[in-house]
Amino acid sequence: MTNSTPMSAICPSCGCGQVRVFYEAFSAPVNSVLLLSNREQALSFPTGDIRLGFCETCGFIYNTAFDRRLVEYSVRCEETQGFSPFFRAWHERLARRLIDRYSLRGKNIVEIGCGKGEFLALLCDLGENSGIGFDPAYIPERTSPESASRIHFIADLYSERNNTISSDFLCCKMTLEHIADTASFIGMVRSSLRDSPDTYVFFQVPDVLRVLEEQAFWDIYYEHCSYFSVGSLARLFRRAGFDVVDVGREYNNQYATIEARPGNGTRTTLAAEDDLEALNTLVQSFATRVPRRIAEWKKRLEQYRDKGLKTVVWGAGSKGVTFLSSLKVRDAVEYVVDINPHMSGHFMATTGVEIIRPLALREYRPDIVIVMNPVYREEIVAELASLGLTPEVISTRDRVA
Ligand SMILES: [Zn+2]
Repeated sequence: MTNSTPMSAICPSCGCGQVRVFYEAFSAPVNSVLLLSNREQALSFPTGDIRLGFCETCGFIYNTAFDRRLVEYSVRCEETQGFSPFFRAWHERLARRLIDRYSLRGKNIVEIGCGKGEFLALLCDLGENSGIGFDPAYIPERTSPESASRIHFIADLYSERNNTISSDFLCCKMTLEHIADTASFIGMVRSSLRDSPDTYVFFQVPDVLRVLEEQAFWDIYYEHCSYFSVGSLARLFRRAGFDVVDVGREYNNQYATIEARPGNGTRTTLAAEDDLEALNTLVQSFATRVPRRIAEWKKRLEQYRDKGLKTVVWGAGSKGVTFLSSLKVRDAVEYVVDINPHMSGHFMATTGVEIIRPLALREYRPDIVIVMNPVYREEIVAELASLGLTPEVISTRDRVA
């Protein structure tokens, strides 16, 4: 776990050998969005190791110890954020922006990794487009009849077999970070567009620059084998033969986005892509700062517990699972809360903490609420107030005193 770790691996994004392992997290749950119906199953949940490598040439960061066979991605996965009004409003703004910018009206749209299909439904409903969505975790009952009439869902991974499907626009959100062979995947997407020079693509992934800046250890989890900044994303796309039209950081810098079209990758680079030096600096301090942050949080939770204060974590998704499994604090958190009703009654991988609905807090009456994603803080405070509760609300962005 040092900067002196010998370089060995070959970067899956650019193919060079300048990869340095800079951070390790052992025994991470191999899946953090799988619904687990009993505590025993959660406590004995399989784990794997994370050894993050940084490519000095292209800035790509990935788990050099990733074993794809350990990760299940199926209808048992519950990853949607669509129950949050804040998220839904942002999602709709993004869909409208893309519809306007690329004149997506009466067009055919493909989404790779469409999850439960919410974004594709927005693009198709708002622009009267038709769509094809690929996702092995797709659940038909989650799509409204109106959207379903416009969209053909394929409950499978997007692969070479599907890449003759023509589209006017191709999007892929929160999927590329699950793919280990990044260059071959983007190469496959590029080759699917060989006869479609006017098809724009939009990709969105978690932004690793923010994760490094905030030492957000809860954002590094096993299913995410690949980590991008806007710069490393742009370099990957250019190398695959795309012209990069735009890059951006969305949702309070939590997401990195790219808009590109088939070309030869030679278009002038954008100022925002120039982040290799910043990444290099942040990577160097990450390994020493994260253990300190984990120790601070652990101490804080232990203090609450020792004072007899009841602490709950708000957010049962990957952030919450990773936060709790990293801290390994026994008996400090009795419940995790989530507004997604499909999650309640299930248990957090490896720690076995039970997930409950917000309404259950009325009886439990927590003293402290730890908000995993700060963008939902206001929404959560309002929800607590509507339940007649005024606990101390802290978020992962708040520094530990
Ligand atoms: Zn590289």
